[in-house]
Amino acid sequence: MGAQNLFFAMLRSDYSTPRRRQLNFTTDIPPEIFAAICEYLTPDDLFTLLRVCRYFRALLSASRSAYTQEIWRTSRLRSSELFDHRPPPKGMSEQQYMLLHYWLTKCQFCRGQKEWESKAYWPFKVRACRSCLLERTISKHRLLNEWKIPKGVLSCLPYISIGTYEIYWISDVIQVEFRFRTIPPATRTLWATKQQERVRHYLQDVEEFELAYKYNMIFWYYKEQESIRKSCMVDDIAAELAVDPQQLKELSAYEEPLQWPPKERDWAAWRHKIVIGAQQFTKLQRRKVDKRWSL
Ligand SMILES: [Zn+2]
Repeated sequence: MGAQNLFFAMLRSDYSTPRRRQLNFTTDIPPEIFAAICEYLTPDDLFTLLRVCRYFRALLSASRSAYTQEIWRTSRLRSSELFDHRPPPKGMSEQQYMLLHYWLTKCQFCRGQKEWESKAYWPFKVRACRSCLLERTISKHRLLNEWKIPKGVLSCLPYISIGTYEIYWISDVIQVEFRFRTIPPATRTLWATKQQERVRHYLQDVEEFELAYKYNMIFWYYKEQESIRKSCMVDDIAAELAVDPQQLKELSAYEEPLQWPPKERDWAAWRHKIVIGAQQFTKLQRRKVDKRWSL
């Protein structure tokens, strides 16, 4: 019996006979032995094992444990005919790397319930469909103008960009802004410099993964980028002019396709049309209010 089969047989309840005491992994097998057994498992087996019980989950999910990282690394390199031999980008654990690169095929938030198509967004370390992405992200424009986030904080955060338009992960923004405000002001500059450096390296590292994706699914990728930027820009305009973004998405100009790759001036022209539509909505709303008052 191979090491893998033996290992999974040990997990099955029918392995132990009434005479034989059932093996208790938490007390009978030290982590070093567990790690040695796991060396023979493929990443697929490890993900299966991770879902067996809390003990395995704790052992295999520890992203900062050198033991755990070694288990995943060995497994990935042993299966190099199936998996990438490139190391994960700096700052990403082996498990996250395997999850994002191979294991997840559906959006990790809605599991394909909202939209069938999804994409790995390497800067945010997630796989998301468009709908879940838009729920969890915000444009730089709104962060600066509406949320009043200091530029120094934004430069410490990873982002995705569509043209020159930058989009950030909301929970990252909240976390980093909190950290920025709670550290002593005298050490903020040094802290920010280190963060910026770390983010810059990380974004450089993940760029090739993003590019590989872009070239594999070029048409879908372009359409997706256009939809994401349009939706974020409508949110920017709606927030500025206090109108319902859903109303703006119903404007005929919203659906007008842009020629790819659009230049920034094309985006500016598209934005202008939406702003005019939004202004008409606000005028209409004002007229309705005035009418009510005059009655
Ligand atoms: Zn989703």
